[in-house]
Amino acid sequence: MGAVGCAATGVNMAVERSVAYFSMEIALSPDLPTYSGGLGMLAGDTIRAAADRGLPMVAVTLLYRKGYFFQQLDAGGGQSEQPVEWVVDDFLTELPQRASVIIESRTVYIRAWQYDVGGTDGGPVPVILLDTDLPENSEWDRHLTDYLYGGDAWLRLCQEIVLGVGGVRLLRALGHRQIKRFHMNEGHASLLTLELLHEEAKKAGRAAFNQADVEAVRSLCVFTTHTPVPAGHDQFPLEFLSRALGSGELDAMKEAFCCEGLLNMTYLALNLSHYVNGVAKKHAEVSQHMFAQYRIDAVTNGVHPATWACPSIQALFDRHIPGWRSDSFMLRYALSIPPLEVWDAHQQAKRRLIEHVNAQTNAGLDHDHFTVCFARRVATYKRADLIFQDLRRLREIAAKAGPFQIVYAGKAHPRDAEGKEIIKRIFQARDALRGQVKVAYLPNYDWEQARLMVAGADVWLNTPQPPLEASGTSGMKAAVNGVPSLSTLDGWWIEGYIGDTTGWAIGERCDLPPAGQDRADCDAASLYDQLEQVVIPAFYKNRGHYLDIMRHAMALNGSFFNTHRMLLQYVLKAYFE
Ligand SMILES: *Cc1c(COP(=O)(O)O)cnc(C)c1O
Repeated sequence: MGAVGCAATGVNMAVERSVAYFSMEIALSPDLPTYSGGLGMLAGDTIRAAADRGLPMVAVTLLYRKGYFFQQLDAGGGQSEQPVEWVVDDFLTELPQRASVIIESRTVYIRAWQYDVGGTDGGPVPVILLDTDLPENSEWDRHLTDYLYGGDAWLRLCQEIVLGVGGVRLLRALGHRQIKRFHMNEGHASLLTLELLHEEAKKAGRAAFNQADVEAVRSLCVFTTHTPVPAGHDQFPLEFLSRALGSGELDAMKEAFCCEGLLNMTYLALNLSHYVNGVAKKHAEVSQHMFAQYRIDAVTNGVHPATWACPSIQALFDRHIPGWRSDSFMLRYALSIPPLEVWDAHQQAKRRLIEHVNAQTNAGLDHDHFTVCFARRVATYKRADLIFQDLRRLREIAAKAGPFQIVYAGKAHPRDAEGKEIIKRIFQARDALRGQVKVAYLPNYDWEQARLMVAGADVWLNTPQPPLEASGTSGMKAAVNGVPSLSTLDGWWIEGYIGDTTGWAIGERCDLPPAGQDRADCDAASLYDQLEQVVIPAFYKNRGHYLDIMRHAMALNGSFFNTHRMLLQYVLKAYFE
């Protein structure tokens, strides 16, 4: 695929790239604060799989000099946010090429940095990080790319102009002329279509784009939508667009594919993509209802196993499944790993987690106790505090079924007041349960902590309110490590759940809760029943069965819910079909 082109930079640009992957956030390395959560992790895991398989991809994102934020929690769980400090030059290579965009009639200059993602077999995938911190820019423009998801809607729009329009221009400046597909990972990158439309018009010698250009651009573009929550779809008042890009541009867009009062970035991408997908079967179904006039397919998300398997599990796979790093389908063979070796590897992971938690929080967790982990963005629909609905019941379970302890982590978005209240409630529950159920909350959830938690947990708890979880990926990371999920049936878990075989379901009969109960009451009651009657007894009294479930989690879910399989589906359905 792709001819060998000339490399102007000499920084691994020698191979022509066929797929350009655009994402507002990409988790590239634990040292780089260029992500906030699941979307960025997915982008990183996708690129790591592309590198493993030698797919000719180039990725584009923004460089955040102050990151998302560093989370501090006070004694009551009150969150405060600090800018992340890091030294860009230590990790990234500056490229000599520049590009610019016009915002409010000002020229905003963009420089680019490169990070190479290495793979097991293939060449590296270059990632281009765009940065407006240049002395020739105005003071405001210099700070445009400082924060991921910081600032207001106006700033966000300006960032998206840099990402979409600036990103395409930078790729061209780097010599990428043969790109066959532009993949928009979420609507943040939708404005790239605008630049492609202008390119098409220019090629035809026209000043304005027309319907033929729209068709041409559509054949180039692929769009993945990531949330069924309407507020999760960026939209901007039209006056912002005419202020930023000029009224001529706005008129042209209105004519072609727009809009009443607001430009919705999801609709822009839907209108200009020939292939659109949701990130799990259920999510595609829900999205199909939201956007009935478009065809929405499903490609269920995955994780990159070599990134998420902890060291002891990696060693286990290296011994029993050589080749698993470049071909994740091989994790199917985890069923033949001797159970006691799985147990030993898991115990090592659990020890590392518990030592970390005890050092960080003084929680005094017990190495032998059943350990429940819950970690993700603290968004209301994820219902992080569902397990604390009835503290008396929780104490009873610990007394009857066996001792258990809970480890939490997660950041609330700086402007999410409700999310911040949830963290405080977890701290209150922690204090109320002292002496009976140990609860720890690790501050500043990030890649490193996620790695410790998904491997060291005995069970991975997830309680989103159906159908609001598009996919969820942390449970897949746990599965790679042989850690079963206990989760409401939403997102990927609808596909990954096999009762008492890969894990357990919460609230199977709560779509229509019994009279007198709401969905949350019903789900909480079901969670308590599962813990008391099924999960904790299996852990303490039927270790052989527990180990079977652990091996099935690896073999059935690790071998499927990974980015090697996911990327192959994108190749077959969207990139080179
Ligand atoms: C995997 C991951 C997420 C996403 O987890 P979900 O289960 O999809 O909510 C968020 N943050 C970090 C640091 C992660 O590693």
